[in-house]
Amino acid sequence: MERLVYINGQLLPQSQAKISVFDHGLLYGDGVFEGIRAYNGRVFRLTEHLERLYRSAQAIMLAIPLTPEGLEEAVLETLRANSLRDAYIRLVVTRGVGDLGLDPAKCASGACTIIICDKIQLYPARFYEEGLELNTVTTRRNLPQALSSQIKSLNYLNNVLAKIEVTRAGLQEGIMLNHEGYVAEATGDNIFIAADGKLVTPPVSAGILEGITRAVVMELAAEFGIGVVEERFLQYDVYTASECFLTGTAAEIVPVVKVDGRIIGTGKPGKITKELMTRFRQLTVSEGVPIFPEGKSAAVEQRA
Ligand code: PMP
Repeated sequence: MERLVYINGQLLPQSQAKISVFDHGLLYGDGVFEGIRAYNGRVFRLTEHLERLYRSAQAIMLAIPLTPEGLEEAVLETLRANSLRDAYIRLVVTRGVGDLGLDPAKCASGACTIIICDKIQLYPARFYEEGLELNTVTTRRNLPQALSSQIKSLNYLNNVLAKIEVTRAGLQEGIMLNHEGYVAEATGDNIFIAADGKLVTPPVSAGILEGITRAVVMELAAEFGIGVVEERFLQYDVYTASECFLTGTAAEIVPVVKVDGRIIGTGKPGKITKELMTRFRQLTVSEGVPIFPEGKSAAVEQRA
């Protein structure tokens, strides 16, 4: 059965889910988005994702046509319509239909809200067991003073260029440095290293996306009594770290065991990384906003 896609209040079969070629999301990357996960019938950290979406929209002066409550319900409705309990959710708000000029004021019909749900495509399981190899790419992360990396905008060309370098090297992910040469993040994930028994991750001011999974890892580390510092660091610090891992909604927590040819730590996923991975998995299946609350469950859940 075809997936149903939400576009401005309507649920349309995937093959008919289309938007105008004059949408400024397409013409200029003018819009914002979120990538969200549902596990075991619940949407993980939905409020945090919605809050980040509204902050991104606020920063680019984009009025989201729905209230956060309305948008939350639209996400849940789309998951229910697709009978999905475990899913990746792509929430996109574009500037809407305008003319061929840049001016968003011409997009008079208003923003376009799109919700796509599908099964998640993870890295193959062996990368979680054995760890990833990364390279440092030559594409620098966008200058945050020019375009804030905190805005999760439809303009992902910076990351796409980095991803091309990663793939050409035959790898899954790579490290992006910021304009000053400090480690920023991966092309679609945040980065942590472990050194002297504590975790270090670049601060938001280093030009990174403030990841929701990054925040969850910080909470879990506090639970375990492991210190976390947000501090700038260099490639040298990655090469000499005892552990390294990436975090992201799609990737979750994935160990890193080799960077630019250097073996990290023992060359196997580290102790702290493994503890965090286990605890993270427990958390994802035990909390979140229910997709099928009482009364809305039976008919749909049976099909799932
Ligand atoms: N950095 C970038 C550039 C991203 O696109 C993402 C999301 N894919 C992340 C970090 C991780 O953020 P989150 O944990 O909120 O998914």
